[in-house]
Amino acid sequence: MRYVLALVFWLASLGLAQPRVGTENGLTRLVFSIPSEARFSLERDGNEVSIRFQGTPPRTLRKLLDTPQVVGYRATPRPGGSVYVVTLKAGTGYRSLELASPRRLVLEVRGSRTPTPTRPRTRSRAPAPVVVLDPGHGGTDPGAVGFVHEEGVVLDVALRTRRLLEARGIRVIMTRAADRHLSANKAADLELRAAMADSKRTLFVSIHANAAERAAQGIEVYYFGETIDQRLLSKAILENGGGALGQRLTREARSVAQRLMSDLLAQANLKFSEQLALKTLHAMVRETGAINRGIHTAPFYVIRSARIPAILVEIGFVNHPVEGKKLASSTYRDRLASGLAGGMVAFLNQGSVQR
Ligand SMILES: [Zn+2]
Repeated sequence: MRYVLALVFWLASLGLAQPRVGTENGLTRLVFSIPSEARFSLERDGNEVSIRFQGTPPRTLRKLLDTPQVVGYRATPRPGGSVYVVTLKAGTGYRSLELASPRRLVLEVRGSRTPTPTRPRTRSRAPAPVVVLDPGHGGTDPGAVGFVHEEGVVLDVALRTRRLLEARGIRVIMTRAADRHLSANKAADLELRAAMADSKRTLFVSIHANAAERAAQGIEVYYFGETIDQRLLSKAILENGGGALGQRLTREARSVAQRLMSDLLAQANLKFSEQLALKTLHAMVRETGAINRGIHTAPFYVIRSARIPAILVEIGFVNHPVEGKKLASSTYRDRLASGLAGGMVAFLNQGSVQR
C-alpha cells in the first residue's frame, strides 16, 4: 500500500500540475507541462475551453487568474487523466500549440481582436483580426534594384494583399502606404515598423525582394532567430540597413535571438511564426509557381521584438532575368498578393497548431 501511494505521489509530481501563466499587454498564455506519452484534446464551448488529458495524473484544482483575458481554470479528475477547463473573458479568442523537449501545451488567449479559430458557431462572435503589412524600404531607401525597385514592387504587392484581406473582413494596417520612409534614420525607421507588431495586432508580415550577384530566383520566408549561414547573415545585414549600421543592428538582433532561447513565451510565439511562415510560403509557391527557397530563421531587426506571429517574406529576385521581369507585371503581383493573403487566412483559420 505504501508503495502504491508512493507511486501515486511520484506520478502526480510529473507534469500537469498548475500551468505556468504569463501575461503581456493584450494576451495571457497558459503553459502546461505534459508527460511525453500523454494525449490531449481541446474543445471550446462558449467562454470555456476544455482540455482533456489522457495518461496524466488525476488533478483537482481551482484557480482564479483574473487577467484581462482569462477568468481562471479548474481541473477535475477523469478516468485515465484530468480535464482542465479554462474560462475565458468575453471577446477573446485563443490558439493552442504543442512544444517538444520538454513537451508542453501552450494556450494563448488574446483580448478583443483575435479571431476565435474554432467552431463556426462561436466564430461569428469573434472580433476581426488585425494584420500589419510592412512593405520594406521606401522614401530615401529604394532597397534592392534590378528590373524593378524593391521599394515599389513590395509596396504594390502589399496594397494588393490589403485589398484581398479586407475583402475577407480582416483589418489591415500598413507601416507605409506610399513611397516614403518612416524616418530618414534607418535604425529609427526599422524601430518604428517593429513597434507596430504589438500584441493588439494579430500578425506582422514584412514584405521584401531579393537581389543576388549570381542568377538566383524564388520565394523564401523568414521568421526571427539565429543563423550560422553566411548567406542569410549577409541578407540580414543588408535588410537591417546595410554597411556598418546593418552590421550593428544585426549584432543587436542576434543578441535578442540568444536571449529568446530561454524565454518560453517568446519561443511559443516563434513557433506560431514558423507556422505562419510555412502556410505563407506554400500558398505563395502554389499561386505563382515560383521556386520554393524554403523557410529560414535570421536575425532581422524589424521582427526581433514582435509580440505576435511575425515573418519576413522575400517575394523574388529583382535582378533575375526572368523573375525580375515577372515582378514588374501586374498579373504576377496579383498572384503574389493572392498567395500572401491566402497563407495568412489559412493561418488565422487554424485553431490548433500542432508541432
Ligand atoms: Zn528589403
